[in-house]
Amino acid sequence: MEAFVGTLVNPGESGISIVPESLVLVENGKASSFSSRSTCRLGAPNETRLVAPGCRNPKYFPNARRRVILAVVEVGRSSELDDLRGRYEIDEVSVLPEAWFLTPGLVDVHTHASQYPNIGIGLDLPLLEWLDRYTFPLEAKYLDLDFASTAYNTCVKRTLGNGTTTACYFGTIHTESSKELFRACQRAGQRAFVGKVSMDRNSPEYYVEDTQSGIREARDFLRWTEDQKDPLVKGIVTPRFAVTSTEASLEALGEMARTFHAPVQTHISENKSEVEVVRRMYPDASSYADVYKRAGLFDSKCILAHGIYLDDDEIELVKERKAGIAHCPRSNSQLTSGMCDVRRLLRKGVPVGLGTDMSGGSASSILDAMRQAWEISKLLSLQAGESEALTLDDCFALATIGGARVAGLEDQIGSIEKGKAFDALVLSPDPGVDFWDAGSPDQLVHKVLMLGDDRNIKAVFVAGRLVAGPGIP
Ligand SMILES: [Zn+2]
Repeated sequence: MEAFVGTLVNPGESGISIVPESLVLVENGKASSFSSRSTCRLGAPNETRLVAPGCRNPKYFPNARRRVILAVVEVGRSSELDDLRGRYEIDEVSVLPEAWFLTPGLVDVHTHASQYPNIGIGLDLPLLEWLDRYTFPLEAKYLDLDFASTAYNTCVKRTLGNGTTTACYFGTIHTESSKELFRACQRAGQRAFVGKVSMDRNSPEYYVEDTQSGIREARDFLRWTEDQKDPLVKGIVTPRFAVTSTEASLEALGEMARTFHAPVQTHISENKSEVEVVRRMYPDASSYADVYKRAGLFDSKCILAHGIYLDDDEIELVKERKAGIAHCPRSNSQLTSGMCDVRRLLRKGVPVGLGTDMSGGSASSILDAMRQAWEISKLLSLQAGESEALTLDDCFALATIGGARVAGLEDQIGSIEKGKAFDALVLSPDPGVDFWDAGSPDQLVHKVLMLGDDRNIKAVFVAGRLVAGPGIP
């Protein structure tokens, strides 16, 4: 058992919740007990308080077998620690420096691991031309398993270091290399959905599937992911988007998702030209969203990337079918796709999370996506002559519990709560976030969220296991 005591930052109904002296006991990867300072007691017989002024010596118990992490707090008298040690078999106390804090892990609900080698380049074209010029040629290289293995291991290591404890990944059309992505997540200890991309038309001849063999490959991949019985990494049905799929393929994938009880991820309404192409390709469908509904893709949990140009009827449909939107503000700007009105989606009851959408987006960090989401919301409110934009607290919720809802994992992750998996980050203002009089705790937390990067993420836990970061000193 591990115990985390200190400042706990969670998304809350009315903004970020900051509880300075919380106790979280972690057992078998889950937060098994949770209390704030007022109830921060370890129970009978003496109700020993863990949080009390006094000793802060991290080497209080040498020869550690287990580990207690104490953040911000000052540990109580030796007799109290002896009592704690006896009751929970805890032998080591580590004290986090003041101003460090715990948050839930970040959730990236839309990104292309296969495009990671192109991150930061090729952003001079709009979506459809960008795909042809830069993206399809890169993705075609994943036929080479050595190339795939190197790229995927590097990508997963990078996103984990950036605090992404859960990622929804697109691979490529190649089944074997998509298995490499699955294995990369397993090796690194990241929670993930991994998709083998399906695309059987309107694609270059060097990077396209035959309809029937593509369906077969998608089914084989999904069956293989199921056979792995991995508690953290799962398969996901992944038609690229309506433009590059035939109706036969979309329908077969919808059926497959139902059969395997698997979620679905795809793109929708990212770019005006794309929306027009879909309208011409599917004259019988009433809208872009209707294309997916008719194919049965909304019968399963569906993660829809972008959704910038959805009309009111489509939003109603998305909400009714319990699908969610992956908002990818950086790629929306960099591919000049548009600005998604997230407040409109949230007001209408659609779950929204954040995606980095590499390499349409040039950052692999959800902290970056969170800041971008805030800026885009401000620009939209400026354009509309309104004063109401998302707040940073709203964007932090999108990055954590919002993403968990979109991925259908809100009962397991997205906040640090009793019974949920301990997917968590330890954040520090060091290095680079200067403060000498931080004011209220929320000002310090806001500073780190706004200015911090992977160097400020000292520890990344997935299901209670330390998987990235230099760790606790
Ligand atoms: Zn994408």
